[in-house]
Amino acid sequence: MTVETNKETLQFQAEVQQLLHLMIHSLYSNRDIFLRELISNASDAADKLRFEALKDESLYENDGELKIRVSYDKDARTITVADNGIGMNRDDVVENLGTIARSGTRAFMEKLTGDQAKDAQLIGQFGVGFYSAFVVADRVSVHSRKAGEKPELGVCWSSDGQGGYTVEYEERPRRGTEIVLHLREDAEEYLDGYRLRQIIRTYSDHISLPIVMPTEGEGAEGEETINSASALWRRAKSEISEEEYHEFYKHVAHDWEAPLAYSHNRVEGDQAYTSLLFIPKNPPFDLWERDARHGVKLYVKRVFIMEDPDTLMPRYLRFVRGVVDSDDLPLNVSREILQHNRQVDRIRAASVKRVLGLLETMAEEEPEKYADFWSAFGRVLKEGPAEDFANRERIAKLLRFSSTKDGKEEADVTLADYVSRMREGQEKIYYLTAESYKAALNSPHLEVFRKKGVEVLLMWDPVDEWLMAHLTEFDGKPLQSVAKGSLDLGELEDEKDKKEFEQVAEGYKGLVERLQKALGEQVREVRVSHRLTDSPSCVVVESHEFGVNMQHLLKAAGHAVPEAKPILEINPEHALIQRLKNEVEDDFDDWAQVLYEQALLTEGAPLEDPAGYVRRVNRLLGKL
Ligand code: ADP
Ligand code: MG
Repeated sequence: MTVETNKETLQFQAEVQQLLHLMIHSLYSNRDIFLRELISNASDAADKLRFEALKDESLYENDGELKIRVSYDKDARTITVADNGIGMNRDDVVENLGTIARSGTRAFMEKLTGDQAKDAQLIGQFGVGFYSAFVVADRVSVHSRKAGEKPELGVCWSSDGQGGYTVEYEERPRRGTEIVLHLREDAEEYLDGYRLRQIIRTYSDHISLPIVMPTEGEGAEGEETINSASALWRRAKSEISEEEYHEFYKHVAHDWEAPLAYSHNRVEGDQAYTSLLFIPKNPPFDLWERDARHGVKLYVKRVFIMEDPDTLMPRYLRFVRGVVDSDDLPLNVSREILQHNRQVDRIRAASVKRVLGLLETMAEEEPEKYADFWSAFGRVLKEGPAEDFANRERIAKLLRFSSTKDGKEEADVTLADYVSRMREGQEKIYYLTAESYKAALNSPHLEVFRKKGVEVLLMWDPVDEWLMAHLTEFDGKPLQSVAKGSLDLGELEDEKDKKEFEQVAEGYKGLVERLQKALGEQVREVRVSHRLTDSPSCVVVESHEFGVNMQHLLKAAGHAVPEAKPILEINPEHALIQRLKNEVEDDFDDWAQVLYEQALLTEGAPLEDPAGYVRRVNRLLGKL
């Protein structure tokens, strides 16, 4: 291909067009950040080059002094941000600047409402990045050449941010990327050296490589460095302002908002490292994606090594962002080696403890803030007890639940709160998992606990079953599902009640047998219940089994679930059960079936034959 004939015109991916449109409108009042985003990318590009150059020094091409240059041209009405980082080739620009190759993009787009304030928030979580250039520019040109590639393989990408862009090869002796913004009419204010310097100092001071601008003034020559240009995490805590921490966070986390909390530590000794860890305010858009890209960044002696969500944090803390900078790890480590490196393991274990400590302090000293954390990341933290055996107790203390005590949907009860309110003689922590808040609150399984004034924790997230399968005790007290196993209230039950119940149950033996026969293989057993006060029936499973609703969810997600037939329990106090015992002859099978199906419905489990259920109910109603 010759240099003259290779101009291609390409369309943006549909999502990019949508995002661009939205961004231009919703970011208008916060336009300064375009510069922060471009500088942040330039800094990432320098990190990547340093890392690649560890293996291949020649990539520096005798130009190892990495920096970012910002300049403007009043006559041409342009601002240029240039770096000598890793650079991009043709395929890179098409991939990085023409598509959003992130899973979850579509789901993200679907959440947009058209309400500017709300969408601006969402865009923030998504990461605005490169496209924010179009908030101030009506044409953006990107000139770039990738490190190690020939000058004639330089590229020029250009777009007005409307439907598409062009790419063509252009001779570029200099490695790196130069982004030229052709300012919109109304963005003239940025053609001002003072203004640009002020924006850089405000938003990008923490960037660890120099950001330079041409020196201004009468007869001035050369360039001056605008930022402090030292790795922020290596500076003393006392020298870093809150704003600086926040801006640094926005850069490492690709976030828009300030973090909720952070922890900055220097560890000395035979294994020295610095960590600066942040907890975001809002969940990133890809929190639930398996292939999320961001996590805690690993540096060795200030050289960027890698960033992924798994190396330095377990899955249940995957929302943590920040940097760990080791003095002692070898620079030439690969991802594979890192994953089995004992030093990394130790740093990781210590970092996990830091994060848990940060959360503990927040929970104690700033409960309202912790409530925000919980609503953003509680579901993720609930994966903790299953994943991190060593820290199970600590994680358990950080969990929050809803409970029957005040019946609020908001989860603000700790296990310790629960234990402190346990009744005299109560040995277990009782909980209920259900399909929804309402289903939990109205579950028949709670009836006997209400009667006895015993608090029950309420849960309705699919992850809760998983959590409770791994969290079997707290503070020496076993956790017991009220919908599993035979109900054993221990000392909460008095002997007289027990005797009475046994007598009553004896009287219902005949009915139990008839029901069992009518329901056949559908149930494991029918028995008289002492859980119920208001409902005629309920279903329970054995202690080690998943609840009926969870079984259904797991099956729907394609898991093989061992067949676990429920047990039907009936309430001898209920008028319906009494009628069934004493009067019903003809339609007994229909009654039995309806009783069982209603119990399944209350659990939130779908019926195998809903139409059959409706037919039966209507037939019985018709006979009234
Ligand atoms: P993010 O920084 O979150 O990845 P951006 O929209 O800011 O998203 O940038 C998109 C991608 O474009 C980057 O991930 C990077 O691959 C590429 N890119 C942007 N600017 C540069 C640059 N100056 N040098 C090299 N690559 C860049
Ligand atoms: Mg970026």
